[in-house]
Amino acid sequence: MKKYDIVIIGGGFAGASLAYKLSKLDSSLEIVLIERNAVGCKPVSAFTFTDVVSDMGIRNSVRQYYNQIEIISTLGARESYTYDDDVFAFIDYKKACEELVERSGCKVIFEEVKSVKGGKVELKDEVMEPKVIVDASGQGYKFRKELGMDVPGIENHLYLKKLTNCSITNPRSLHLVFGDIGTNGGWIYPINDTECEIGVAERMRSGAKITEFPEKQKKNMECFIAHQPYGGMLESSRSESETMVFYPYEPVKRVVKGNVVFLGDNAGMVHPVFGMGIHYIHKIGSICAEHCVQAVHGNMKRLKEYQNVWDSLLKSDMNAWIWGQVFWGLNTEQIDMIIKIRSKSQVDKLNVLSELRGHIGNSKGSLFLVPERLYWVLVKEVFINKIKYKIKYCR
Ligand SMILES: Cc1cc2nc3c(=O)[nH]c(=O)nc-3n(C[C@H](O)[C@H](O)[C@H](O)COP(=O)(O)OP(=O)(O)OC[C@H]3O[C@@H](n4cnc5c(N)ncnc54)[C@H](O)[C@@H]3O)c2cc1C
Repeated sequence: MKKYDIVIIGGGFAGASLAYKLSKLDSSLEIVLIERNAVGCKPVSAFTFTDVVSDMGIRNSVRQYYNQIEIISTLGARESYTYDDDVFAFIDYKKACEELVERSGCKVIFEEVKSVKGGKVELKDEVMEPKVIVDASGQGYKFRKELGMDVPGIENHLYLKKLTNCSITNPRSLHLVFGDIGTNGGWIYPINDTECEIGVAERMRSGAKITEFPEKQKKNMECFIAHQPYGGMLESSRSESETMVFYPYEPVKRVVKGNVVFLGDNAGMVHPVFGMGIHYIHKIGSICAEHCVQAVHGNMKRLKEYQNVWDSLLKSDMNAWIWGQVFWGLNTEQIDMIIKIRSKSQVDKLNVLSELRGHIGNSKGSLFLVPERLYWVLVKEVFINKIKYKIKYCR
């Protein structure tokens, strides 16, 4: 039986980008990626930062570049930020993952992994004993459950459509919409002036019964398409395809157990408000790759250190998480008020990019502009969520 150094389970962005990063760090590693379906098969519409595209060399998979972002409330408030250069890209997920796997040169096996118990990877007719296993199998958390580990506590139910026949006024501007459409609002990612991908989201506890969601989401989507002020752009649009999927929305506490490391959606690597899963996978994946290489070369303690790095990331991102939870607790009027205040307070557009990456920065200035009744709601909610997150992640 062939001995592999690293087995990666899953060929989504987490598995594919890790394979590529590992191959760049040490081309002598014996790596195998096991995918039960097809590489990059999750129906994902993904906008990310252009630096992720250039770092990973996936320009061929970019479907559109953006130099503008608009954050809109369903009650009409609007923040708009325009940049001199393109700062975001909308990527073809499948193409990006395929390209990364191909460039990594790793072996790919198309089969379902049954178990990772005892640090071994069990397939239908074979058991592998690699030095390191990276579980990048996404939402579902099969192996986290098998190993008795925590799973992301919150998930998003996403309903996604590709639209044609639209009248997109500025195809280089993407829109994020917050308010009373679903629990998380929705997004529009233009591809050109007649095509775009749009989606709506409903937040739920992980493992909640989903029977009522499809109907609810169809209503959310109707609302979303009809919504003003951008409704005119989508008024005569036609739906070309649609999908419903889940997406985790809260980080787990532990990302290492024995020789198994967790990366990507199964570790809940997301921004609490904007998602940005691709960016988080890129940021944390680079650290993960370095630790895996060191572990393969005989220093298994490096995997434990990766857990320490994750702990400090959780701590440094804690404020973003607290504000995220506070944000989702607000009603539509309060969200509208915040977007209005931000649009009037000349928020630095570079800070907005930083916020999207999960850095809170100094928001004290704009807090003084918040009316008293909302101010005290925010103070109370921040306090409650601070305690909640301290208990959850810092014990
Ligand atoms: C609709 C939607 C819109 C999104 N929009 C954005 C966005 O705009 N920007 C952004 O940055 N992020 C976005 N995200 C999030 C981002 O796409 C995810 O964070 C990212 O794709 C997660 O990658 P992953 O590799 O962890 O998981 P996945 O892409 O789900 O990959 C997991 C892979 O593992 C395979 N697998 C599972 N179990 C097994 C097994 N037992 N054996 C073998 N293989 C297995 C699966 O087949 C799958 O291919 C969006 C997500 C969704 C669903």
